[in-house]
Amino acid sequence: LMEVSELRRDFVSGPPLRRETLHAVDGVTFDVRRGETLGVVGESGSGKSTLARMLVRLLEPTSGRIEFAGQDLGALGERRLRAVRRDLQMVFQDPVASLNPRRTVGESIADPLRVLGEAEPVKAARDLMERVGLDPGRYDAYPHEFSGGQRQRVGIARALAPKPRLLVCDEPVTSLDVTTQAQVLALLAELQEDLDLTLVFVSHDLAVVRQVSDRVAVMRQGKVVELADAGEVYASPRHEYTKELLSAAP
Ligand code: ATP
Ligand code: MG
Repeated sequence: LMEVSELRRDFVSGPPLRRETLHAVDGVTFDVRRGETLGVVGESGSGKSTLARMLVRLLEPTSGRIEFAGQDLGALGERRLRAVRRDLQMVFQDPVASLNPRRTVGESIADPLRVLGEAEPVKAARDLMERVGLDPGRYDAYPHEFSGGQRQRVGIARALAPKPRLLVCDEPVTSLDVTTQAQVLALLAELQEDLDLTLVFVSHDLAVVRQVSDRVAVMRQGKVVELADAGEVYASPRHEYTKELLSAAP
């Protein structure tokens, strides 16, 4: 479904005469297969979020290429890109930060539907709330009236509004307790099945990634050092770094 080749993203920082270039994502190549869950693991600062944001085009790559459904995203015109971007949605770690506190959760879900020209955005938003396990009767409630797990469900409903084909989840359960994590993971698995979704699941948590992924990519300092079936990566890691990572995990 998606082919990523030699993707790079640099960040330049520091005062003019002492500029430093950081290769946050340093030439990664991999594919995402239709219907799978591709896990991306790596320690803090390894470039996972930078990669995730490039995949959904929230961040421009410095160089390299992303092909989605056979189209080179970098070569698309404004209009085509806008259409393709609907297919690529993201769920963030912190639903609070991605939701407007002054907007009801129902409206937060209805807004993207309106932008897309949905004829009955309120009804469609209520349907989506129901779909993700929220009481549609709470359409008029505000984000602060919801628990962390419920807010993440709102985040997921919002991401689903444009009917994406690829959902990139960046640490979607990291700020939740273990029980709530399990519920949100179960929801994602169910949605994936029902909606024919492909997932890229980014997390520093090896156990969570193992639980949800078909294949796993291990990132270190901006590079993918290993990519294989989840069972293989965990049972017989090939790269020294993966072994280190696994032995450090609780
Ligand atoms: P974490 O597990 O903590 O979320 P991560 O693997 O998601 O880490 P990234 O957020 O992708 O890592 O960051 C990779 C590197 O790029 C880090 O060194 C970070 O400081 C740097 N970086 C990320 N975004 C920016 C930015 N907008 N400007 C400058 N540097 C950035
Ligand atoms: Mg991150």
